[in-house]
Amino acid sequence: MRIDLHTHSRASDGTQSPAEVVALAAEAGLDVLGLTDHDSAAGWAEARAAADSAGIVVVPGIEISTKHQGAGVHLLAYVPDPTHPGLTAELDLILAGRSGRLAAMLAQLREAGVHIDEPEVMRQVGEAKAIGRPHIADVLVAKGYADDRADAFDSWLNWGRPGYVTRYASDTRAMVRLVTAAGGAAVVAHPWGRGSRRVLDLPTLASLQADGLVGIEVDHQDHNGTEREGLRVIARELDLVSTGSSDFHGEGKVDHELGCNLTDPAQYERLLEAAAHNAAKAAGVAGPAVVRPGPSVQVE
Ligand code: AMP
Ligand code: ZN
Ligand code: FE
Ligand code: FE
Repeated sequence: MRIDLHTHSRASDGTQSPAEVVALAAEAGLDVLGLTDHDSAAGWAEARAAADSAGIVVVPGIEISTKHQGAGVHLLAYVPDPTHPGLTAELDLILAGRSGRLAAMLAQLREAGVHIDEPEVMRQVGEAKAIGRPHIADVLVAKGYADDRADAFDSWLNWGRPGYVTRYASDTRAMVRLVTAAGGAAVVAHPWGRGSRRVLDLPTLASLQADGLVGIEVDHQDHNGTEREGLRVIARELDLVSTGSSDFHGEGKVDHELGCNLTDPAQYERLLEAAAHNAAKAAGVAGPAVVRPGPSVQVE
């Protein structure tokens, strides 16, 4: 079984539609595909509809922008109830933060001599709910300000560059609880990628696990061999599920081809079990208050 649990489509900042990602996944010989667009479930329906004809299983997820002690943490939420009021409210805040920073970013870029405007970016955003820096990067490339997305980030969009503007992210611990309450399974994406190592050590992961964290993404292109080994040891020690994924973004990210990292089938089964457990619990707690007559109480 070939299982890739973290990919992006045009519902956020990937370059392919959800149906195209599913078709490409089948072509790449995957059996299971996680579609995990940033902060939105907008691509789920299309991906699910495409899954049958492609003959693969789609696991719907969301990669949620959170922060722990000031450091950005991407949290993968697998199969949460996308209509859970607490979760949708928080995702709406994050999406509003993404949209709200655009004008400030463009103003700062203008100061630095880069002239792109909002309609140009919005054409690039298309139907995506989550406006991201990659969309701005694509406009910068199209107008000759950068060679490719990576160059656009290095020159203009990364922290410390002229176009950088911070945006709202949820508290990591609160989001782990919320995803769990919404019947999903929370997994930290690339825990030691992009400078997160400072905060996500074993004690921190153990304490997030106490709040419902199910797993960590171990095999990811942002982790070198030593980091993967270190994370594997932590996963084993804490009995966290360990996943592996491509973080595919279509043509938007080089060296993230579908299936370049895979999740072990036994780990995938554990992830699904955790999600099923949380969903059952969520249904029990959040469902209508039904008094079930049953044989459990014997009245003399
Ligand atoms: P944002 O969501 O606006 O914070 O932008 C972050 C997104 O940009 C993430 O999904 C990354 O995958 C993507 N990204 C970050 N750095 C690069 C890079 N150097 N090249 C391509 N994509 C990048
Ligand atoms: Zn992305
Ligand atoms: Fe990420
Ligand atoms: Fe991602």
